Amino acid sequence: MPRPAGRFAPSPTGPLHAGSLVAALASWLDARALNGRWLVRIEDVDMPRCVAGADTLILAQLAACGLHPDEPVMWQSQRSLAYSSALQQLQQRGMAFACACSRRDIEAAWQVSGQLRTRHGELVYPGTCRHGLNGKEPRAQRLRCTTDEGSDVLIDWTDRRLGPQTQNVTQAIGDFVLQRADGLWAYQLAVVVDDAAQGITHVVRGEDIADNTARQIHLQRQLGLPTPQYLHTPLVLAADGQKLSKQNGASAFDSSDPLAALRMAGAVLGIEAHGGTVADWLASAVQSWAAVFVPPLVPSLPAVSGAADQSAGDVDAGGMSGLAKPLP
Ligand SMILES: [Zn+2]
Repeated sequence: MPRPAGRFAPSPTGPLHAGSLVAALASWLDARALNGRWLVRIEDVDMPRCVAGADTLILAQLAACGLHPDEPVMWQSQRSLAYSSALQQLQQRGMAFACACSRRDIEAAWQVSGQLRTRHGELVYPGTCRHGLNGKEPRAQRLRCTTDEGSDVLIDWTDRRLGPQTQNVTQAIGDFVLQRADGLWAYQLAVVVDDAAQGITHVVRGEDIADNTARQIHLQRQLGLPTPQYLHTPLVLAADGQKLSKQNGASAFDSSDPLAALRMAGAVLGIEAHGGTVADWLASAVQSWAAVFVPPLVPSLPAVSGAADQSAGDVDAGGMSGLAKPLP
């Protein structure tokens, strides 16, 4: 059984705000409660959106809160070879294909069929280029989201906080992008390749990303990679009820008072912790997290049925459902 490992994977588009600290703290607490490694990965794959110096600032904010990675930080901008090799593997298996469609082409294809299918403002891909480009120039690389028999890809998974989840990736998303028309690697491919490379067994991240999980599991299966367990944390809402995000101008949390920032993040997670110093508070919070989210080990059970047994590699078969209490 691999040693448990979790990670925090921020995009360096600005400093951490109160919402991103919740995800950072939760992933750290989970790794500590599982006696595992905690890693930090800077997701700077979408380079035009990155802000110079934001990565350094984020690492300093984490350090101020006592959240120190156990291994050197990984930068996605240095991982092109690994992504390229994963894409090749998918192409060789006939799972990745070149796509010549612009957004307008995709809209037009849906209009022909008398409908326009979108999800969260994104167009569902209708599969236009699956069987060739008709002489057009390739733009992006996409992952085929059908089974080998041509039926829909149905993904069931169990979130440790949200419970059982299901998605028909073919109908809800369609063949999604692996490499963009501008040559940049897509988030889904980078995350899946890097989680496997870093040996991540437990992904803990914000609930706004939960919708990506089915796509990532489909991709893991196509690449022959293990599926981690997933836990999505509650979001911090701004005064207007919108999700707190860098995009809507959320400001950096005050790292000059890390204990106050941690207490606020802990309250969002439903963690009761005590301590007058960062180190004491964190130690107390680990106990609280473990009580809610980490099922006690039952020594008499054979290892194969253990909930934390990553070698099972299958969240559907995992024993986490029903063991983790949902947060209030
Ligand atoms: Zn296309």
